[in-house]
Amino acid sequence: MIKINENFLKLQASYLFAEIKNRTAAFQEAHPDSEVIKLGIGDVTRPLPRACIQAFHKAVDEMADAKTFRGYGPEQGYPFLREKIARHDFQARGADISPDEIFISDGAKCDNGNIQEIFSKDIKIAIPDPVYPVYVDTNVMAGRTGAHNQGRYDGLVYLEGSRENGFIPDLPQEKVDLIYLCYPNNPTGATISKSALKEWVDYARENKALILYDAAYESFIRNDELPKSIYEIEGARDVAIEFRSFSKTAGFTGIRCAFTVVPKSCIAYTGDGEGQALHALWYRRQSTKFNGVSYPVQRAAEAVYSEEGKIQTRELIDYYLKNAALIRQEMSALGFECIGGENSPYIWFDGGSDSWKFFDRLLEKAGVVCTPGAGFGKCGEGFIRISAFNDYENVEKALARIKKQLNS
Ligand code: PLP
Repeated sequence: MIKINENFLKLQASYLFAEIKNRTAAFQEAHPDSEVIKLGIGDVTRPLPRACIQAFHKAVDEMADAKTFRGYGPEQGYPFLREKIARHDFQARGADISPDEIFISDGAKCDNGNIQEIFSKDIKIAIPDPVYPVYVDTNVMAGRTGAHNQGRYDGLVYLEGSRENGFIPDLPQEKVDLIYLCYPNNPTGATISKSALKEWVDYARENKALILYDAAYESFIRNDELPKSIYEIEGARDVAIEFRSFSKTAGFTGIRCAFTVVPKSCIAYTGDGEGQALHALWYRRQSTKFNGVSYPVQRAAEAVYSEEGKIQTRELIDYYLKNAALIRQEMSALGFECIGGENSPYIWFDGGSDSWKFFDRLLEKAGVVCTPGAGFGKCGEGFIRISAFNDYENVEKALARIKKQLNS
């Protein structure tokens, strides 16, 4: 008899975006003449930078000629891309990362989800609340949690975010082995200072723990005091894996290109306490289960680091940051104490009521879709996430409507 992985049955229906879609569709059906503005989902809306498109086209043409055609690429990704990443994203900021510590992939989501395969079943995992759900669900699927119980999975250590701590959780009271951190944060938009991040790195070093650092939104950081990479923190090379993506940096959500950094000095332990390099394990995992990102996509990603590419991607992020600043300014003027919206595309605030009630009010009265914070965890209850990924004109229009409704 074929049996299923029963851990999948523990998963809670991921109803957040499905429910948003259903409620939005019902509203649109009831009000066919009203235009709904979506500031809910975290997907980009602007086209790819010109430099990326040109490199993409050129690489596609290379595939049409026997002399320049390429089949399977190198397992970790092409050196031309890994060298640019190491130089521009890390070494230029004083972070000692080399090209052979970078693994090109087709998404930070898959890497964040797959990485848990290289760790033991019986580790203690610390997860922020609210959280990007991939970290939790992939560990549930792998059997590292108990049942779902009153909004939480047994066996996980939840790192609570709140208005008081600015959604930068305190270090755990109990000893944990694996820690998920994400800054700039999805969903809260919070950013972490170097000194606060150093506390986590020190914790990991003292406890033989490992940090999984999701920096998918690092390109939104404009305050140079803030760390873009965890490797800007002394000692992080030995205790942290970092995830990056071209999705938000250069509008690649539909193109698919990302990378994971596994420093060669980063170790975890066997049951006997013997240190093992995680680089070798991840290399083995990826070369067994993954066959790389297409050549034209890697060339398009490389163009992000050209002189034109740098200017154009900066302009792209500036565009969304301008939206974010406007949302933050207007929501603050309405009396909501906002987190994020600076160095981040997300604005997070306490709506003063049940998250879904606020969502319905915004949809029905203003025709604006946001994301209820409750969908990201227990600590998100009452909060609202507004995303800056839309056209500026739409953001202006949405805010004018929100202002009118909430003031009336
Ligand atoms: N990590 C975080 C925190 C995200 O919010 C997202 C996407 O929304 C991802 C990773 C996924 O990135 P990718 O498109 O590279 O899979």
